[in-house]
Amino acid sequence: MQRVPMNDLSRALTRDHAEILRSVSGVLSSGWLVQGPEHNAFESELGELLGGPEVIGVASGTDALEIAMRAAMPAGRSVVVTAANCGGYATTAARRAGFTIRYADVDVDTHCLDPRHLDSVLDDQVGIVVVTHLYGRAADVRDVQAVCASHGALVLEDCAQAIGAATADGPVGGLADVASFSFYPTKNLGALGDGGAVAARDPAIAAAARALRQYGWTSKYTIGHDGGRNSRLDELQAAVLRLRLHGLEAGNHRRREIIAAYAASATASVRVLPAEGTGHVGHLAVVVSDRRDQLRQHLDAHGVGSDVHYPVPDHRQPAFAAEYADVSLPVTERLAGQILSVPIFPELRDDEIQQVCDALASF
Ligand SMILES: *Cc1c(COP(=O)(O)O)cnc(C)c1O
Repeated sequence: MQRVPMNDLSRALTRDHAEILRSVSGVLSSGWLVQGPEHNAFESELGELLGGPEVIGVASGTDALEIAMRAAMPAGRSVVVTAANCGGYATTAARRAGFTIRYADVDVDTHCLDPRHLDSVLDDQVGIVVVTHLYGRAADVRDVQAVCASHGALVLEDCAQAIGAATADGPVGGLADVASFSFYPTKNLGALGDGGAVAARDPAIAAAARALRQYGWTSKYTIGHDGGRNSRLDELQAAVLRLRLHGLEAGNHRRREIIAAYAASATASVRVLPAEGTGHVGHLAVVVSDRRDQLRQHLDAHGVGSDVHYPVPDHRQPAFAAEYADVSLPVTERLAGQILSVPIFPELRDDEIQQVCDALASF
């Protein structure tokens, strides 16, 4: 029996080998290795795709989160609010920046931050609320913004899993005050290594992010912003990202098709989180089951890989769980024991998709 992998990056790399080599070769000929023409063009092309914010390339999605937090945190505030079911990236970034974190629970259907839980954690110390567009689903930024506005807090969209998702108000990444992206190889827009970006419409936030990614420089050798670092997006990565930007929409479409096929074959004991319309880009195919661990064994016995995104909520992570011992997030904690991710990437073959469908149907 063939095994269906969670991901196989070699398929796209093999298919696009010649084109990628052409892009790489162009960079070598140009003599630019950092912040050259490919990098600048990628920043403006992504900005256009997002509907106009300024884009700042950085070295990873976690760096993008940290730099966005530092750039946007209103003066006199130091608390970040986030959901606890998004893999710990916002937590890692906020802790590195020296900010305090508070957690809010998520909606049982969307798995995204629930605006109804925000009021109880917001006060005049909270400067930033992170909304993660989880699994590729555009979260409800408007409702979160409405609650935040009355408390003077800004909204940061974590778009690492949702690049290309569109809402009635425009693309994710251009909806709130600031946004972060990751180009880790398995993301919907993946580099040949690490990469990330910050997006912001406010020129002051954009300028601060631009400075913070390069030592805090406001001009060469002049440190105008404290808290800076070196986090640049390489020219080679930018060239590959520009190339892959052309295939983003087709890849996102294919991902939605795959999830629709899974949804069509699921039984009453497995709920497939829907990914319908352009407001979802199918980064992960997630199913919910009361018998998650048995489902996982069943899929494994039928040659289907799976994983859990994510098994340990942020406030229960061993490194700092003691600080959050009195925090209770009932929906987040329950979902962590019920969710299971099944294979999804655009190069998945039809026979592999069918194998996943059959395995889901026979559970
Ligand atoms: C992948 C991911 C990140 C982190 O990106 P890196 O490039 O790996 O640092 C942040 N947030 C979310 C939601 C992610 O999925």
